[in-house]
Amino acid sequence: MTIIEKIQEKTIRKWMSKLFEKENNVSNIDGALKPNADSPSRYELMTEASKYGERTGFGIKIAPMMVSILRNEFKTVNTLKKNPEKPRTEISNEELQKLEQFARKKGAGLIGFTKISERIVFKNKGVLHPNAIVLGFEMEKDKIDTAPSLKCQVEVMRTYDKLGIISNKIANYLRKKGFSAHAGHPLMGAALYPPMAQQAGLAWLGYSGIIISPEFGPRFRLTAVYTSIENLPFSEKNEHSWIKDYCDSCRKCIEECPGSAILDEAIHHPNGQITHIANTKCMPRFINDFGCSICIKVCPFNNVDYYKLKESFLKK
Ligand code: SF4
Ligand code: SF4
Repeated sequence: MTIIEKIQEKTIRKWMSKLFEKENNVSNIDGALKPNADSPSRYELMTEASKYGERTGFGIKIAPMMVSILRNEFKTVNTLKKNPEKPRTEISNEELQKLEQFARKKGAGLIGFTKISERIVFKNKGVLHPNAIVLGFEMEKDKIDTAPSLKCQVEVMRTYDKLGIISNKIANYLRKKGFSAHAGHPLMGAALYPPMAQQAGLAWLGYSGIIISPEFGPRFRLTAVYTSIENLPFSEKNEHSWIKDYCDSCRKCIEECPGSAILDEAIHHPNGQITHIANTKCMPRFINDFGCSICIKVCPFNNVDYYKLKESFLKK
């Protein structure tokens, strides 16, 4: 480890424990959505990383982004005290349109709406409101196609950073309009984002554990803003469920995963979620090889248009 990496590691650990304490306090706020007995535990990537060896690529290029990511993670919890005492709960169509315009102007590539349940809130965490605005931000293809590489890792971290900033800006925008808001952060967060995006009708979870959308294939990251707005246009359908059958016939990420972390057999989680990914097998590669990301690079949805793949698959 270089001196910069050692300082970075120590700083991350110190600030993470402060952040965890603040995050855990959200579940004590009156009316907050709390986890239930079947809720998942959050994988603490930032503090668990050192168990798997020395991080690669966490040097001078990543350091400024890590500082910004941490700052915005703190902002997600520190700004909750700015919420109005008696928040509005209804939004007009015109206000909703303006909210979407604002989110897109700030850089959100995907926007969807869903009501979340306690089964996807992480253990010990809390979500201020069940009404979620789900946001996606694209990672650039030419960078992801170099995976595993420092270039690719920088792009992943840039995306986390940018989306964390967008999430806080949207929460702030909502507060100014009289609503209550709790910004999520794409790196960690208080609840599982992939099921949220799936429920919001934006995308479908692939075998690689990465969510796949028509707009960006598997090449995007997610976050959410939880709000007091009760009349958002919550999605009740998802048109992407065919991707499950596509994954069954594809399995390219299973073959190419260098950590054997994507399993043939599905894992059925207590909260009802079904995945194919073994985090503890992925982590050594993720930590020691620039965030890996091979599963994103090789996925056909990264290389071929979603609708072309759909048409040819459904014809068979
Ligand atoms: S990031 Fe790498 S090790 Fe992890 S699941 Fe994807 S391909 Fe496998
Ligand atoms: S590589 Fe194939 S199996 Fe893996 S997520 Fe993409 S489509 Fe699904």
